Amino acid sequence: MTRQVVLASGNAGKLREIEAWLAPLDYHAVAQSQLGVSETAEPHATFIENCLVKARHAARLTGLPALADDSGLCVPALDGAPGVHSARYAGEADPALRDARNNQRLLAELAQCGQRAAWYYCVMVWLRHADDPQPLIGEGIWHGIILSEPMGDGGFGYDPLFLVPGFDRTAAQLTLEEKNAVSHRAQALRALFDRLTAQ
Ligand code: IMP
Repeated sequence: MTRQVVLASGNAGKLREIEAWLAPLDYHAVAQSQLGVSETAEPHATFIENCLVKARHAARLTGLPALADDSGLCVPALDGAPGVHSARYAGEADPALRDARNNQRLLAELAQCGQRAAWYYCVMVWLRHADDPQPLIGEGIWHGIILSEPMGDGGFGYDPLFLVPGFDRTAAQLTLEEKNAVSHRAQALRALFDRLTAQ
């Protein structure tokens, strides 16, 4: 019998990607918004804490196992910024303008800086129930270099500035298949589902 897991995100793209991993395990993912669960605050300084809060909130309100993810860009020369603030690095701009503003701020912060190494980080948490003391956790790190001007119009967020060594293209110039094979999110999903399968 197919079991349900609530996904603590309303992002349809993520839901589709996660569904493909869940099907062989006889799970079906349902977006929390479909179950009347609204987004919760993410008040913490680390991705893992915010991810746990999101998963616990969804599990508590639905009574289902829950899957949450949290991700962002970390730049060592900026002490890990934008980090957990990646989505709103340039403030509460109109969502349609947010990515462009965030990229402008990143370029401004790095203008005088010789070190442009960066990575995308993603963490995924699976809670069997809201009080699960031993969540399953998968992490992914994707290394790149921040360019000084954007290239490409695929992807989202910081992808036009994120040069991927090995491909010699930005994440915004990769096909969706290329990105989904190597990205931080793909690595985290793979690690999480290895653990889920092994338990
Ligand atoms: P979320 O965890 O998916 O909500 O992502 C938080 C923020 O991190 C996004 O709004 C982006 O600014 C940034 N981010 C996370 N993953 C990616 C990615 O794959 N490409 C570009 N930006 C990303």
